[in-house]
Amino acid sequence: MVCQCCGTDVEGESVCGYCGMVVFVDFDDEEDAGGEPRIAESYRTELLARITNIKLKQGLPKIRFENGRFLDDGLQEIIFAGSGEDCYEKIAWAPVNICKPQDERTKASLTVSYDCGGVPKEISFKIETIRTDDWWRLGVAIQKNMRLSAYLGDAEHHSRAEDLPILFVP
Ligand SMILES: [Zn+2]
Repeated sequence: MVCQCCGTDVEGESVCGYCGMVVFVDFDDEEDAGGEPRIAESYRTELLARITNIKLKQGLPKIRFENGRFLDDGLQEIIFAGSGEDCYEKIAWAPVNICKPQDERTKASLTVSYDCGGVPKEISFKIETIRTDDWWRLGVAIQKNMRLSAYLGDAEHHSRAEDLPILFVP
């Protein structure tokens, strides 16, 4: 038996250990048929709304060239999505291009920060690098299992990091 909200195994449980959804059993009653998926859907919508401010933890340096000099505008904040709903089952690409490293690195690291119910959290990914014809972009998506994955590449070719839990992360 799996949680109707996130798919976690909830056999013998009364509440899902990951997302907190109450486990309903015996929906034999005709009247209640279809009630559980509906409740799970509105519960999921509430959880997604609690996830806000999804961004890259570290900004990228913003450099501009003016009057023969390079000027440093400091770190540029990189925002993926305003809320969990913006990236549920779809990739939210950050609106910046990233230089590929010159060396033969095969894994890149990134840390994503977000708020969960107003509490700041962060989560770190290791992600395979990938050959693309263009610049790299970074993206994130919340999967059906209510875990976050990170993407590197472009819309056509990208690698995907392992899904990591984002709810109630200590
Ligand atoms: Zn669940």
